[in-house]
Amino acid sequence: MSPTDILRFAPSPTGPLHLGNGFSALYSFAAAQRLGGRFLLRVEDIDQTRCRPEHEAAMLADLAWLGLRWQEPVRRQSEHLADYAKALATLADAGLSYPCFCTRKEIAREIAAAPAAPHGTHGPDGALYPGICRRLSSGEREDRIAAGAAYAIRLDSGLAAGRVGPGLHWHDQQLGRQALRPGLHGDVVLARKDTPTSYHLAVTVDDALQGITIVTRGADLFEATHVHRLLQALLGLPTPGYDHHRLLLDDKGARLAKRHGAVSLAQLRDEGRDPAELRRTLGFERMPYA
Ligand code: GLU
Repeated sequence: MSPTDILRFAPSPTGPLHLGNGFSALYSFAAAQRLGGRFLLRVEDIDQTRCRPEHEAAMLADLAWLGLRWQEPVRRQSEHLADYAKALATLADAGLSYPCFCTRKEIAREIAAAPAAPHGTHGPDGALYPGICRRLSSGEREDRIAAGAAYAIRLDSGLAAGRVGPGLHWHDQQLGRQALRPGLHGDVVLARKDTPTSYHLAVTVDDALQGITIVTRGADLFEATHVHRLLQALLGLPTPGYDHHRLLLDDKGARLAKRHGAVSLAQLRDEGRDPAELRRTLGFERMPYA
């Protein structure tokens, strides 16, 4: 426990916050209060096709209604693209990334044509990128870029694993010490064709730049931490502690999600729900400042 602890809630403004997001926000906020630390808010709005300023405004209003208070300024990822570009350049200079020209269709075709799922071809999110563009020569890469082909940037996870060596780990508050599995997600995307960064890169850089000491987030992102820990090692960034909390489920046992129409905080607010009572229902009995 330390007053220097810094925690954060990092939502994406792609739609109204639902009850599960509210739980996650309160979880981080309550932990920061318990530790006597600071609580920050980060708007993860790099996906400009899905994020909207009106969603962001609504999101901040919902969180304030729920009783959260955060330190200003709010960090908005779309305003910090230079930070991600710098990290991307560091990885490129170290020879750890490569341009990937593949379309989703090409990747799917290659995966379908591969002999039945040999070991190491699947990760937590399904089939891994089969490495098509990793095998291109530098001449081919240059030609395609010169011809104006769109490309993403991928991490060469095999090289990266060799570079960091064995023995790295991270610590999860719920599950304890986790040995790093650098190849778990394969050659992840570091920058997308339409966005000059990716979730993995931006979140790793931001947690370091904001001095986050404990990353609190849902258990659905547990496996993603392997990528973040690997990127920290490659970029020379500190490793925070991690606390992946349980997810709220609906009455059918499915995880709450915006796209499945989970009840939004705005709806509850419009129905006149008392935020203090809602906090208690979600398991946050005492909010010291309130
Ligand atoms: N922006 C991510 C989301 O809304 C969360 C990122 C994180 O907490 O690491 O799912």
